[in-house]
This record gives sequence, structure tokens and C-alpha cells, in this order.
Amino acid sequence: MAIYRPDLLFIEMTKACDYTCLHCRASSIRFPSRFELNIKDINKIIDGIISGSRENKRYPQVIITGGDPLMSPVFRQTVELLHDNGINFSVSPAVTDKLNTEILSFLMDNEMSSMSISLDGQPEIHDEIRRMPGLFRETLFAMSTIKDFGIKLQVNSTVMKRNILDFPFILKILREYQIRTWEVFFLITTGRGKGEKPISSAESEDFLKYLIHVEASGTAIRTVEAPEYRRMKQMAMEGMDMTGGEVFQELIHRSEDLNISGLMRAAPFPVNGRKIKTGFISSTGDVSVSGLFNLRVGNVRDTPLDTIFNGNPILDTLDNNMNLKGKCRKCRYINLCGGSRARAYAETGDYLGEDSMCAYIPSLNEEIILA
Ligand code: SF4
Repeated sequence: MAIYRPDLLFIEMTKACDYTCLHCRASSIRFPSRFELNIKDINKIIDGIISGSRENKRYPQVIITGGDPLMSPVFRQTVELLHDNGINFSVSPAVTDKLNTEILSFLMDNEMSSMSISLDGQPEIHDEIRRMPGLFRETLFAMSTIKDFGIKLQVNSTVMKRNILDFPFILKILREYQIRTWEVFFLITTGRGKGEKPISSAESEDFLKYLIHVEASGTAIRTVEAPEYRRMKQMAMEGMDMTGGEVFQELIHRSEDLNISGLMRAAPFPVNGRKIKTGFISSTGDVSVSGLFNLRVGNVRDTPLDTIFNGNPILDTLDNNMNLKGKCRKCRYINLCGGSRARAYAETGDYLGEDSMCAYIPSLNEEIILA
């Protein structure tokens, strides 16, 4: 029985948000509910973080998220408690009038380490996904304000069928605003995202290759629910062809002026041996591996967080690649990738099954050394 130690711990302060985005995994609601995390719960969570980190003396990075976390009645107290206990935190707010200079000053005073803002495409696509005309313009304004405060800003974008070709446009904005980190979420059909179409495995292969080129040109890429990106990086290291099909060609074509060459074959990418581990606490205290992976492993209201993470049978099962099924179990990239467990779970109910987004087909005699 192992102790699960997340590198990143997401706290969903509330499901409340002014928007009803089409891809919202939280299925946001209009107002905070009285059942959501209160300050007693937050204190328990912080106690659990501290107890769980006693041995290795390293706290996870906490990401305060939602819904819109700024709508939680205990948002400020949470920030102060994290700060007072020396726990690094980031905030992932929605762009509304609550995201103003006063709150940014408060967050800076409490040494927030970074902030992330979502951007999902050209103005019409971004606003359509958020069902809020004019929000794209307000998002750019918010990004400028955040940058003016000297806050480290990252952009989050969700790739799905309707916006896959908009990514060069988003990249252009990242370059204009000198944003170095791009977190790309690959749609999981959960929450309101059930109504959206994910990209196909062939499109994903082209898109991952495009991201390889983007990263080679200087923008750091973090993928969410696409561990195949690590496989693709390894393939680039092995000198495999990093050019792709129609979607790839179109993305490269739309990236003219962005200093991206579609001809690069191998990129010198060291692929970290260890995958980033995440934990997620929902607005009602349920604990899971991520907000996109709705498999509850405990609840902080009845069990301390460090106890939930200690010898949890589901987390132990997930941690052991020997348990994976289908082609993932036969794949030589299993240790680097392992497939999205959230996607397998959302689509089939079997969290150890194959990742439907992966186009890789292991050959018959792949050499597999399980780590
Ligand atoms: S088969 Fe599974 S482990 Fe291999 S690259 Fe695809 S998703 Fe990853």
C-alpha cells in the first residue's frame, strides 16, 4: 500500500459561475450552494496537506478553481490560510467584474504564484462556447491587467472538434502577450462537455505533432488528459517523422508568421521520467484524481485528506501500470504515457481500459519494461 502524493492539488471552491460554458466539466450553477466547502472544510484540507507532507516536507502546489472560485464566500479566507501556512497556490478565475485590481492586489499581497485564464479560440468561437457575446474582448483586457500587475499568467485552452483549427490564433495571442505556458486540455465528455464532440484519434495525432512544433518554437506546453503527448515527444526524440496529415498541414499553414516550421523532424525534448500526479477536491469535499475523472476515492468531510491518500486501493491500482488493459498494456510507451484514465472511465466506465483518443498501435513484439 503506497502513499499517493499529488504534485498539484486542485480545490474546487464552488460550482457557481456567471457563465454556462458548453464544455464545463463542473456543470456550473448560477449561485454558490450552502453545501459547498466552508471554512471548517478548508481548515481540514490544509491540515491534511500539512500532515501528508510531513515526511517528504514538500507541499503540493494548490490550484484554487471552480466554477469561478471568486464566487466562493470563503475564497479570501482560503487564500490567507494557504499563505499563512506557506503553501504555494495559483488561482484559476473566470473573467468577470470580480476579477478586478482590488482582488489582484489582495492576491499579490498573499504571494499567489500564478494565475490561469481560459481562451478557447477566435472571438466568435470563444464567446459561443461561453454563451457570452463580447467576452473575448474582456478576456484580453483581463490578461493585460494581470500582466501589468506582474503576475505570472498562463493560458488554458480546451481542444475539441469545434475549435481545433483555432489554436494558431490562440498561439498568436500568447505571443503578443508574452505568455510562455499554454495548458491544453483535451476534452473529456463529462459534465456539460458531454454535449461537445471530442477530436478523433487521427486529428489528435496531427494536433500533438503540431504541439511538438509549437513547443520547439519556445512556448511551454502542458497537456491535460493527453499523456500521449509524452509518447509523441519520445517519438520525436527517436527521430520519427513529426509531420502529419491534413489537420497538421492546416495548423502549420495558419501559423505563418509565428516562426513555426512544419518541417522539423526531431526535436531535442527530454521526456521527464515521472508523470505529474494530481489530486482534486470537489466543492462538496469529494476527492478524486482530477476534476475530469469523476471517480471518488474519499471525502474530506469524513476522512482526513492524508488518510484518503494513504494506501487507497483505487489510487494504488491506478499507480500500477500492470493493471492497464487493452493496447495500453502492450505498448512500449506505457510508462511515459499510460493513456487517459479519465477518458477511459468517462467513455466506458472502466478506468483501466484503452484511451480512445490514441492512434498508436503497438506492434506484436514491443519490448515493455514496466516501471
Ligand atoms: S497505447 Fe496507451 S500507453 Fe500506448 S501511447 Fe496509446 S494511450 Fe499511451
